[in-house]
Amino acid sequence: MNTQRVIDAVSGARLLQRLAQLATYGGLEGGAMNRQALSEHDFDARAWLIGQARQLGCRVWTDPCANLFIRYDGDSELAPVMTGSHIDTQPSGGRLDGCYGVMAGLECLQALAATGVRTRRPIELVVWTNEEGSRFSPGAMGSSAYVDPTRLAGYRRCQDADGVSFGQALDAHAHRFAHLPLRSTVQAHAFVELHIEQGPVLEQAGNPLGVVSGIQGVRWYQVRCHGAPAHAGTTPMPLRRDALLAATACLVRIDALAQRLAGADRRLTFGRWQVTPNSINTIAGQACFSIDFRHADAAVLEAFDAELVTCLPEGAELEPLFSHAPTAFDPAVIDVLEQACAATGMASQSIRSGAFHDAMYLASHCPTAMLFVPSRDGVSHNPLEHTEPQHLLAGARALAWSLVQLADQA
Ligand SMILES: [Zn+2]
Repeated sequence: MNTQRVIDAVSGARLLQRLAQLATYGGLEGGAMNRQALSEHDFDARAWLIGQARQLGCRVWTDPCANLFIRYDGDSELAPVMTGSHIDTQPSGGRLDGCYGVMAGLECLQALAATGVRTRRPIELVVWTNEEGSRFSPGAMGSSAYVDPTRLAGYRRCQDADGVSFGQALDAHAHRFAHLPLRSTVQAHAFVELHIEQGPVLEQAGNPLGVVSGIQGVRWYQVRCHGAPAHAGTTPMPLRRDALLAATACLVRIDALAQRLAGADRRLTFGRWQVTPNSINTIAGQACFSIDFRHADAAVLEAFDAELVTCLPEGAELEPLFSHAPTAFDPAVIDVLEQACAATGMASQSIRSGAFHDAMYLASHCPTAMLFVPSRDGVSHNPLEHTEPQHLLAGARALAWSLVQLADQA
């Protein structure tokens, strides 16, 4: 009964209006966004958001990594149910990535305030700092430092392209928002992140909502193939050692390995190439390329890792660059999200996330899952990012249903 009142109070028009307002902070000509983490635009957007939260009667905290916590009180001081995402963008990003989850969360708090419904647990909207990782690398600093505060000291030393450290940017945030009380990590009861899919699956299936089963893991490598640089006109073919030919010939073998292990589910990319001397009339003496392989099953990633070397040309060097294990979301939270889709009358499907999200880190802290809405043409990190208004509303309503359900749990 209460749940129905709350989801009926979720307003699509207000959600769109707030998304448009948020896009004025760091908006560029032509509709692109440039609101990088802890920039002045980010600070201005946060100041506006804090004002909105106060109007709803919410309490607001920040923490040592500049995460923002906006709490709608419950009937008890039990562990809160959290939702949220990020409001930093890529240097030429869209208006929805991250922002949608935060604005939809705010709309849920507004629906609660408008109906006067109080859940057993508090509900908190969180803005995680620097998810994108474009100004300060790596990404998801806010959520990862929240679940493991020992990471923060190292993050503070990271610098942006102008030599400003993340620590200095955090200090500027603390100065601008000195009125906000500081909080350390609070144990959450559950976390739900609502996000645009950033891929084409939901759109192609015609489903307005996706319940995310997990986030695929990734392995990055660099391969260095050696040859002998020599004159392109004078060296007979049988006498050549062409590093680029050797490198390109092994791509088919690597793809065959990925196909054997993962079939159509494989995600394999050779995105970065360096050829030396990179001259039109010299045989390549060295060819380096990157491999990005992703899968939801840790065993598949391990098998790929073990067999990859057998695909490479003789004498090639293989260097692992990065690895992240797959994340499986919590079955009980997934169950609530599936019920939410059904209860709000929306067709949904199970989907796997191909991109990283703050929820990946929260999953190690509390029961966590995600909801996706479709992305037009699967486009993201781009000013053309778009989701139909009725799908944005469907996601916000399903989120509201889920939050009330989770926050009434004992
Ligand atoms: Zn995002």
